[in-house]
Amino acid sequence: MEIKCRSCGSDIWYIKAKGLCYKCYPLIHKIETIKAWDKNQPESMVPISGVNAEMLSYIGNLKEFEDVKKRIIHQYEQRISSYKKLFSDDIIDGLDLEHMFRGFSVLLANGNKDRWHLFHGYANNFSHDFDNDQRKFIYNQLLTILINRRFKLNWNKIYQDR
Ligand SMILES: [Zn+2]
Repeated sequence: MEIKCRSCGSDIWYIKAKGLCYKCYPLIHKIETIKAWDKNQPESMVPISGVNAEMLSYIGNLKEFEDVKKRIIHQYEQRISSYKKLFSDDIIDGLDLEHMFRGFSVLLANGNKDRWHLFHGYANNFSHDFDNDQRKFIYNQLLTILINRRFKLNWNKIYQDR
């Protein structure tokens, strides 16, 4: 019997604990730890990999601490969503593929914003030239590259509204 992760649905990443694969388990554990952070209860302020004690003490003193918590959690949830996407049967339309290519353009543009839009308007081509299985195949290969990148919190985004 194949065993699937109860979070992402993977049957290729072995189950680490609690029905969760080794990719989802640490992220879900982190999310639970972050949700429990309460600056009035010092014992709840447990650092995690990605947010060391010094950073935690800094963000714990911000008046927008609760918002910062939410944004950190959101980034971990997005990472889990990318795992789910890989194992889902969702339709991949032309726009999904265009967005994926845009993501790579941004990633590889070294900050040069002129290069972000290389694939702007390609959604129609992707829709007409490929069927869903072909789009899904390309999408999942690119997604696999992203998933294999080491995940880091984007602190610029976490602090963006300050
Ligand atoms: Zn999983």
